[in-house]
Amino acid sequence: MFTVIDRIAGMFSVDVGIDLGTANTLVCVPGRGVILSEPSVVAVRKGTNEVLQDGDGLAVGDRAKEMLGKTPGNITAIRPMKDGVIADFEICEAMLRYFIRKVHGNRRILVNPRVVIAIPPGIRQVDKQAVIHAAERAGARRVFLIEEPMAAGLGLGLPIREPMASMLVDIGGGTTDVAVLALAGIVHSNSIQTAGDEFDDAITEFMKSEHQLLIGPLGAERIKLAVGSAWRLPQELQLTVKGRHVKTGLPSSTVVDSITIRACLERPLEQITQAVKRTLEETQPELSADLVDRGIVLCGGGALLRGLAQRLNEATDIPVIVGDDPLTAVARGTGIILDNLESLKNVLESADSI
Ligand code: ADP
Ligand code: MG
Repeated sequence: MFTVIDRIAGMFSVDVGIDLGTANTLVCVPGRGVILSEPSVVAVRKGTNEVLQDGDGLAVGDRAKEMLGKTPGNITAIRPMKDGVIADFEICEAMLRYFIRKVHGNRRILVNPRVVIAIPPGIRQVDKQAVIHAAERAGARRVFLIEEPMAAGLGLGLPIREPMASMLVDIGGGTTDVAVLALAGIVHSNSIQTAGDEFDDAITEFMKSEHQLLIGPLGAERIKLAVGSAWRLPQELQLTVKGRHVKTGLPSSTVVDSITIRACLERPLEQITQAVKRTLEETQPELSADLVDRGIVLCGGGALLRGLAQRLNEATDIPVIVGDDPLTAVARGTGIILDNLESLKNVLESADSI
């Protein structure tokens, strides 16, 4: 039951849903949708835990990335949610504070908001507590946790509360999470630390060994977005890539095509394919039957890799579709939770205080 205090608080603050991803943090406000999406990056002074500050505030998200380009010498970029767990508590707190404050704009009277945070499935209890504490210290009045696959399922409109199985594959930056959902719970899941970052690393390595070209992580991601694929394309693509020559150290450029880039992504692609197959094999037969009909839904930024759905379809022989707006599925799910905290409390991880 919501108290009078809750209602008054609602007049002065906004409830927020947060997808705390390894690559991107998204914030959803009920009634307004996903209003913020920024890299999960915090800029700190090198060798310290001190979050950088400039005239307008903390160097977090887009600002952290911007600053990095300009003064790379004494600044380090930290991704607080490494491999789906909190790598650094203080820095995670600084990031949450930044996002919660940003949503509230310059509002003077602020009664702390309720916050729903989507967390990776199966994270340790201490990490759950750490997320809750970080959000509380960042200004949240009440914090509810939901496992990312549940949030994504809600965001994508899957029948996650029905006695019917759905399979979700979320390919993020640091991890790929494969989950089978039914009756408002995760029936079975597997998580591997192979996702978008590994694609980028494979491309960096390939450019160095095959083209003697050094490129940065952003350059590798750009190649992935421009010509990356997981299955042969109706029309193969080409791209001119600039970088620094390994031997001469001078600026240099070369042309790459989607066929060779696909070949260099083979290892991480196969790891993701095997994780999906393994999860299917481990799923109870009566639920597998549902999956044959209903297929697999992909989400997360990696779902946008060209031909990934087709590759997984060829490997599993069941239908695979890319969910609607896959990058925002989890965040949209947290917004749905906030709108229906009472009726959806059984899908939350921690609902003690509802
Ligand atoms: P996380 O939940 O871990 O923060 P996201 O779901 O935001 O991750 O996905 C980020 C990853 O998706 C990054 O590795 C990014 O490069 C990748 N990505 C985004 N768009 C595309 C695209 N069009 N094709 C391939 N990968 C993409
Ligand atoms: Mg994610």
